[in-house]
Amino acid sequence: MTLISSRALPRLAGPLLALACLTGGSAVAQGNYPTHAISLVVPFSAGGPTDVVARSLGAAMAKTLGQSIIIENRTGAGGTLAAMHVARAAPDGYTFLIHHNGMATAPALYRKPPFNPLTDFSYVGQVADVPMTLLGRKDLPPGNMAEFIQYARANGNKINLANAGLGAVSQLCGMLLQESLGVQFTTVPYAGTAPALTALLGGQVDVLCDQTTQTIPHIKGQRVKLYGVTTLDRIKALPDAPTLQEGGLKGFEVKVWHGVYAPKGTPPEVIAKFNEALRAALKDPAFTQKMAELGAEIVPEAKQTPEGLRTWLQSEVDKWGPIIRKAGVYAD
Ligand code: ASP
Repeated sequence: MTLISSRALPRLAGPLLALACLTGGSAVAQGNYPTHAISLVVPFSAGGPTDVVARSLGAAMAKTLGQSIIIENRTGAGGTLAAMHVARAAPDGYTFLIHHNGMATAPALYRKPPFNPLTDFSYVGQVADVPMTLLGRKDLPPGNMAEFIQYARANGNKINLANAGLGAVSQLCGMLLQESLGVQFTTVPYAGTAPALTALLGGQVDVLCDQTTQTIPHIKGQRVKLYGVTTLDRIKALPDAPTLQEGGLKGFEVKVWHGVYAPKGTPPEVIAKFNEALRAALKDPAFTQKMAELGAEIVPEAKQTPEGLRTWLQSEVDKWGPIIRKAGVYAD
């Protein structure tokens, strides 16, 4: 379908990574871990949907850990630069990554994948699942999904579709949308969907597919047009919103899932402590209430574990690889 060139990605520094893995365990005084603030790397812009989940989670986890979690936004290449940064970080329990489906799609999206999600990390657990919404700028002519389909087919590449780069879920959702409609829009990439949504609100782009964790306040404030949610069933947080399936795109489904990762070789005791804080946060009323308001669903306990995340990641890598290769979307 599309040939997309991205900026050249630096290669993983293999020898450095190996050295860090060997020294990481001994560098941590594991008994009193953590002794200082921990960095949680977010692959997209501050204020966006992944960032919202990360900041709320970090605040809740800090209660158990007794140390703050500092959010570090490292944007670029649809989340790939952040994942590479964490893969290369010291496995000392002070650098973690929160990422979404992009972790599973990266190997198929890059001709020379810059990291292997299944071998370059330690796994902490999953967090929450989040639906996406298909939005238009407030004055885009179609009033509902049926009209949007006609409009999209009539206007094709005159329509600007914003996303957060190749590897972002907004890109994945947009790719499926174009496939289902048999059209090609003009894609406008941003460092995250926070700036993409600002562009939509300002009328600089026409369409955006984005998580409810960012879009619900703008939908309720009627600052954007909502064409539908990307789940097969309607969601509690937006009960009146039709699904894209109801709007005519049979079987259309994109759900965003989030996992927490550490550099490979992070000591098991550290992972266990971080996981304990993660599981406590997923029961914290301040966190769960905020997630519910924003349409996010906390994952079941079996997925909140390192094995739960690793098994899910494998199934997602297996699922998306053939779909992406068939669509022919690649970055060099
Ligand atoms: N919603 C974004 C994505 O499309 C990322 C973000 O800014 O959180 O992947």
